[in-house]
Amino acid sequence: WQLSVHQSCQLRLVGTGGMVVMVTGAAGFIGLHLCLALKSKGHGVVGLDNFNSHFDFTLKRERQKMLLKHGIFVINGDINDALLLRKLFDMVPFTHVLHLAAQPSIRYASENPGAYVHSNVAGLVTLLEACRKANPQPAFLWTSSSAVYGLNTKVPYSEDDRCDRPASLYAASKKAGEGFVHIYNHSYGLSTTTLRLGTVYGPWGRPDMAYWIFTRDILRRKEITIYEGPNKADLARDWTYIDDIVDGCLAAMETAEMSTGTGGRKTGPAQNRTYNLGCSKPVTLPRLLRILEQHLQVAAKIRVVEIPPNGNSPFMYASINLARTELNYDPRIEPEEGLKKFVDWYRDYTMIECNTCLTDSSC
Ligand code: NAD
Repeated sequence: WQLSVHQSCQLRLVGTGGMVVMVTGAAGFIGLHLCLALKSKGHGVVGLDNFNSHFDFTLKRERQKMLLKHGIFVINGDINDALLLRKLFDMVPFTHVLHLAAQPSIRYASENPGAYVHSNVAGLVTLLEACRKANPQPAFLWTSSSAVYGLNTKVPYSEDDRCDRPASLYAASKKAGEGFVHIYNHSYGLSTTTLRLGTVYGPWGRPDMAYWIFTRDILRRKEITIYEGPNKADLARDWTYIDDIVDGCLAAMETAEMSTGTGGRKTGPAQNRTYNLGCSKPVTLPRLLRILEQHLQVAAKIRVVEIPPNGNSPFMYASINLARTELNYDPRIEPEEGLKKFVDWYRDYTMIECNTCLTDSSC
């Protein structure tokens, strides 16, 4: 990996944009888009990702190739590797760490609960510790999730709402992470920004997410099961297009102060901000499916199952007033436009419209 770091330095790490950014989870969905956006603005970017096999290893490699084409090197390493992090911080004067690496997804918890602890708690603390010891201390920005609002049924949820009752292991790990981030700000003067993302979609997205699975199954003429809340309420989520999320993250980075601590000691109060980044316009599952059917020109075969009351709100969406005011965050992409971009990319990426796929669901 020393060679990798060396190579990334050779790839004109210090650009004209002024920031030098470590992006963890760079081979992931949001990481890819943020690395490209940072690079296009002239910032120096080094990616870090452990390329785990969860979701789709090939897709991660394809994203890595795409990044390399743009001169961005992604180091194959784990955020739990304290030695690797120390060497990286010794070699590169990062101004910002944008921490996206995580074990996402609610459903994987029953298969591998340890993965959430490994990446979302232990890995986060290892990275925070490396930031604390770095000189200069970078501004630390990371993605939490709207999942932290858990069983809170008030909508739209805002940053000050209670989030002490997570509804999943994923949510619990993100909430725990928020506590650790707070401590590194409070005790060590690390400048911290927490971005609670809603549901993000777009090209190069995650194969475990509903819009990807629906697109795949509609094209394969497979039956799709959708859930509706108690009393036949449509489930709705704050679907937000990736470009809007990228804009919000970049705005947060541009306003983030450098840390006040030096060499691990706190020297003054540092920024500690939390923002919801969503679009504040809930999209129901039936509407999402209608839009996909239109773009794909194929009717979905839908089976509706009512879920028993589980304490979750059927309608979940964020108040984004704070991000609007402080970051000039202004999400603009409507689901019709964003899902069209996803579908066009998906067709290219998978070439699933080939005749075999249409007639043989095992293709
Ligand atoms: P993703 O799975 O596509 O990307 C995460 C990347 O992190 C992956 O490439 C994975 O290999 C890497 N990774 C995981 N554990 C690691 C470790 N220990 N060391 C190094 N790399 C590791 O996920 P995404 O959708 O791009 O999400 C990025 C971040 O945004 C995550 O923190 C996620 O929790 C958060 N988030 C995403 C959404 C969404 O809708 N996509 C919503 C809310 C929050």
